[in-house]
Formats: sequence, C-alpha cells, structure tokens
Amino acid sequence: MLMGRDELGHRSETVRRANLSAIVRELHEAGPLSRSDLVARTGLTRSAIRGLIGELVAGGLAAEGPAALDGTPGRPSPVVRTDPHGAVALALEIAVDSLAAATVGLGGRVLDLVRVDLPRGRSSVDDIAEALAGLAASVSDRLPSHQSIVGVGVAVVGVVRRSDGMVSLAPNLGWRDEPLGERLAAALGVDAPITVANEADLAALAEHRRGAARGVDDIVIVWGSVGVGGGLVVDGKALTGSAGYSGEIGHIPVNPDGLPCRCGSIGCLETEVGSTAILRRAGRSPEGGHDALDAVLAAAEAGEPAALAAFAETGRWLGIGLAGVINVLNPELVLLGGRLTASYPFVRASLEAELDRRVLRAARGIVRVVPASLGVDAPLRGAAELAFEPLLNDPAAWLAPRPPMVVLASA
Ligand SMILES: [Zn+2]
Repeated sequence: MLMGRDELGHRSETVRRANLSAIVRELHEAGPLSRSDLVARTGLTRSAIRGLIGELVAGGLAAEGPAALDGTPGRPSPVVRTDPHGAVALALEIAVDSLAAATVGLGGRVLDLVRVDLPRGRSSVDDIAEALAGLAASVSDRLPSHQSIVGVGVAVVGVVRRSDGMVSLAPNLGWRDEPLGERLAAALGVDAPITVANEADLAALAEHRRGAARGVDDIVIVWGSVGVGGGLVVDGKALTGSAGYSGEIGHIPVNPDGLPCRCGSIGCLETEVGSTAILRRAGRSPEGGHDALDAVLAAAEAGEPAALAAFAETGRWLGIGLAGVINVLNPELVLLGGRLTASYPFVRASLEAELDRRVLRAARGIVRVVPASLGVDAPLRGAAELAFEPLLNDPAAWLAPRPPMVVLASA
C-alpha cells in the first residue's frame, strides 16, 4: 500500500517518539548504559541510537560521559545516563502518622526529602492538602530556579480512585469519599499532572522497579502498619483493578468469628495481622503506636516468650491470608513491607508453615516470601515513579519541536 507523504511523516514521527520513550525508560529504570547496551536492549540500530541520544542530550534529559573505571580491560565505552536535574518529579505521601514530600530526579535519585509527624486522629482533607503544599514548597524551593516539576505523584494510606484522586476510604484519617486529588490541585497550584494512588500499590511499583523485586514480574507486597494494605504486580504491570481499588489484601476475610474491621466487615486479615493485633497478643495496649510496636520487636529480639508468641500467631494468620492470594495469582515473590519488614524474622516460621499446608504444590514450589528492601520511603519512591509516567511514555513532548519533520509533512 502506498502512503502519502503526510502519512509517512506522521508515521516516522510516531516511531521517533516511541523510540525516544524506549531509550529514556531504559535509562530511567536500569541506570547508566553504554550505547552498545542500548542497542541490545532496544533493538534499534547504532546510528538510530546515536541520533536519539543526541536529541535527549540537547533537550537536557540525558548526558553522555566517560564510563566509570571498573578495571575491565579495553577502551571504556562512553556511558549514557539520565540527567537527574533534566526532569524532576514531586512525590508526596500521606502515611498513617506522617506526611512527606520529596523531589526525585529522572533516573530515580532522591534530590530532597522531608517527613513530618502527623498527629493521630481525624484531619480534614483541606488541612492535609495545605500541610502537603507547605512541604512541597519547602523541597521545590531548593531546586534551581529554571527547574520545573514534570509531574506530581501522591501516595495515600487509603482506597483511591486513580482517575481523579477520590479517596473512598481512609480509616486512619477518618476519611470517606474525600476529593483529595481536587483539593491538592488547588493547594499546590502547580502546572503539572497530579496522580493519587494507594501507598501499598506504590510501594509495589517502587520495589518492582528499584528494590527487592527488581527483575521479577509477578509480585505481591503486603504493606503493614496500623492497617494492612497490599499491592500487586502481574506480568510486569501494576494490577489496579477497574478503578484503582484492587490489592486490598488487608480486607481478605480470614476469620468468620473475628473482630470487627474498620472497613465495616468482620475478621479481615488486618484485624489479625495489623499492629493493633500484635500489641493485643503481646499483652500491650492496642492503642500504642509505632513506639509500642518497636518495644514488642525489641522484646522478641531479646527472646521474650510473649512477644515471640505474638509474632508467631501473627505469622500464622498472615500465612492463611497469603495462601489464598498465592493460589489465585501464582506470584514469584511476596514482599513484607512497611512495619512488617522488621517483623519478618519473627513471623517467618509460622507463615511458611501455613503456606506449606495451604498453597497448591506447584505454586508453593515457586513462591518466595522476603522482606521488602526500600524501607518506609517505598511509597514515596513509587509516587515519583507514577509522576514520571507521562514523561517516560512520551519524552518528545518535553523536548523542543524539530523543524525538519514539519517541512516533510507540509511538502
Ligand atoms: Zn476490613
């Protein structure tokens, strides 16, 4: 079939944009790469790579320089890397007991991060939006003056509709159907897209891209704090459900005779493995916060029987809940994140024993349960990844328009 010149120009422009996207995504996710690495990873020709890198360097998104001396023989090949100051994302987080803001450069380097305590209890969505705007200003004011924010990602401890950042439920904040996305847009006043997502979903994204699950395409993360969240990556992609509500592992029903859950149901996994349950089993006040949980962890490390028994029972329930998830999804890796990371050594034995009893043999042979590796900032790191998505999908939109293409298309 013959194509007109307009169509041909349009198609080559589409190909150019897709190729730029492939290169920027590789550099963002994998780190510095030689031109040969990029040829191997993208399947593009060496000359195409050279031209596209030239565009990215001219547009400030990438830089090319000598390879680090690593002792390998031969002439070092120049290395291409993202310029962390070439594009900056603003990441915000509303956690159970803190608020955080960070600026993150293309390539994932955290440029600046502030975290402040959030008093427990009810806080209005306007108060929180205002407080976050203050934190956002404090980190973005430290950027060079010419630097603009390419996107804003927000992690929130709640059930979120991604299309508009409507928080359907956030028990820790006392929120139900709160328009967080809309309020943040007004409070921040930035000229960049704002995307809001659940903190555990974003922790899964960060661990998949930069943490313990790097290179693994089927993962489950259980994110524990007062509540228990979950995030899923299936076949390399975040599983969000039709509106963004998926992954609520904490609300899997596990105990029909259990305690009332804050979601309105009874005997959800969260009521058996959340920090309240651990404190109750260890004989401490269930109202205690993170300090109280740290005390139980310290007691377990010292070998205190009540603390060890509390974690063992928690691990058993975690195993019951996860067995169902593993049988449905057949993941390769289950990560314990948030406050559960530190509990891992003490819940491990009973959790694994429960998986041995309940998971289908074929799936059991594959799955490994490991602690997450990015710590408490994983949701914030994931929020930055979310904020970079529009740029990674079409970096050409951030580069200056190219006159030659216009000539070809209008001839
Ligand atoms: Zn529940």
